[in-house]
Amino acid sequence: MGAWRPALFSLAYNGAVKRPQMAGLRPCPSIVACGLVLALAGCGEPGAPAPPSLPRHLVLITIDTLRADRVGAYGYSGARTPVLDEVARGGVRFERAFAPAPITLTSHASLLTGLYPPGHGARHNGMRVKPGTLTLAAHLRAQGFATAAFVAAFPLERRFGLDGGFEVYGDRLPRGVDGRPAAERPGYEVVDEAVAWWRASQADRRFLWVHLFEPHAPYGAPSAAAGRPASDRYDDEVALADREAGRLLAAISGAATDTLLVVASDHGEAFGEHGEVTHSLFVYDTTLRVPLLMRGRGLPAGLVVPDTVVLVDLVPTVTRLLGVAPLDPDGIDLSPCFEKRALPARDLYAESYAPLLDFGWSPLRSIRSGRWKAIEAPRPELYDVSADPGELHPRDEAATLARLLDRVERFGPGLLPGQQVPADPEARSQLAALGYLHGGPAREGPRPDPKDRKALAARMQQAVSGEVTGPALKALLDAIVGDDPQNGQARQRLGYVLLEEGRAREAEPHFRAAIAARVPSADPYLGLAVCLGRRGAAGEALAVLREAAAVEPGNPVVLANIGIAEAALGRLPAATAALRSALERDADFHEARFNLARVLARAGRRDEAAREADELLRRLPPGAPQRTEVERLRAAVR
Ligand SMILES: [Zn+2]
Repeated sequence: MGAWRPALFSLAYNGAVKRPQMAGLRPCPSIVACGLVLALAGCGEPGAPAPPSLPRHLVLITIDTLRADRVGAYGYSGARTPVLDEVARGGVRFERAFAPAPITLTSHASLLTGLYPPGHGARHNGMRVKPGTLTLAAHLRAQGFATAAFVAAFPLERRFGLDGGFEVYGDRLPRGVDGRPAAERPGYEVVDEAVAWWRASQADRRFLWVHLFEPHAPYGAPSAAAGRPASDRYDDEVALADREAGRLLAAISGAATDTLLVVASDHGEAFGEHGEVTHSLFVYDTTLRVPLLMRGRGLPAGLVVPDTVVLVDLVPTVTRLLGVAPLDPDGIDLSPCFEKRALPARDLYAESYAPLLDFGWSPLRSIRSGRWKAIEAPRPELYDVSADPGELHPRDEAATLARLLDRVERFGPGLLPGQQVPADPEARSQLAALGYLHGGPAREGPRPDPKDRKALAARMQQAVSGEVTGPALKALLDAIVGDDPQNGQARQRLGYVLLEEGRAREAEPHFRAAIAARVPSADPYLGLAVCLGRRGAAGEALAVLREAAAVEPGNPVVLANIGIAEAALGRLPAATAALRSALERDADFHEARFNLARVLARAGRRDEAAREADELLRRLPPGAPQRTEVERLRAAVR
């Protein structure tokens, strides 16, 4: 295992700042993930061996947020992607491959089911793949493949439904000292686990999916940025992901000739194009175009495919190449490309529901057909992408536009009201840590066109990307709040920035404003409760925390803080009950357990306090600096 990279977990807005009064236990970035125990299930039932002319195994590597035009094989002169370039030289490179959505879960779900987002239902991070959706993994497992996936980021955790069909689904994210999982993990961990599984497996046919997250913002350690442009640091992260991909390929090289290798990304990344930074809001090709490489038995070497393809085409193509029964996907088998035959003319679809779900603005849906691309929006757009690949010059051809937009509904219905609820509260806070907001209240009446709000969106995306920290982040949030005082997300984030600086009195009105703006989360209430707690108003803090519990019932952070507030008011049985219910929901919530032990000790329940302290020592990593304090408590109740 390589060196710990704390920077990867230094997200702009993680849970650590928003837990009031967890006296004693302080977050420390030097703690290694505790308890990373992975069941390395060897293999399933051995299936029928592959015919000798077919690849036996499928290895899929997805590199998150990787723009095609930042890969050497795609013509980037500044590239440091020798591994991907070598794959392209030895196989097939799709010059014009597109994601069906610029969103991690949505795009991966399409890639792994062959279905456009309306078909699998996970239309934004935090939603869930529809139960019963047949995945490539389930299909291959039924055909006798051993299946395993190792993913690097929270949006792909098993709770969102992509684990179906995988015998092993490695999604264990490192936990902080407070026990809450981080939002992402470094590629070397993912690759280490994948290599271990591969080596342990005896199966004749295997499907391995490995997900690397490095190129996603923030790009490296913000502290190490030292004025280097984001775009350069992005290239560093791409180089790192390429190196990890190389380590995986080296480990499986013994089976290289038996393996069909696919390398893809889930979406691109914007660095100011169309006024966007990062990704998710718009459906321009800046964030939809992705690299797609395939190499293996039966595929030509060094072939460049000019046809326009989409990630839903992967499933039908690999089932054909592996010689297994086809699924019933939305995409098509790309095999004709390998013989330089043209694909049939067809419409390709893409969407983003991030504008709706994050901001309450109009969603975007697009149709690509031949040289045309139409975007459905309050003010729809039409581009001739063959002459204008940057989509800089909207065309004024109403009949063409209308004809294309008429076909959008053929790809499935838009999101209906009531379907817009993203997963659970913990999911929301972790997605917020990754820069996905989920804060936009549904609005009545016509929804704004995202392109009319792009300056605001870009500043918010910048603020949540993790790229801007310290005084610059505060200045950015001050500016957003100055222009848009009703922006609940910005008010809340500014409140937390001030709180981190110890300026609770200044933070308080921002949390109140965020609550008034109906940010649909417990976070502004938690922030306000911290402010109140810091000025000794435990009763008021408790009332605010009860409101938080109404917004997010069962949120363990809220419950733990209710326990701490009750303890501050001297109501020890109520405090014990609240802390215990927090731990029922998250047994690795170390700060909650520490406070429970203290409350029990105060109540004279020494044996129970000792048991909780012992349990905490069992759960804390061996080198955790918090152990000293827990041991002191343990000794005091002996
Ligand atoms: Zn992604």
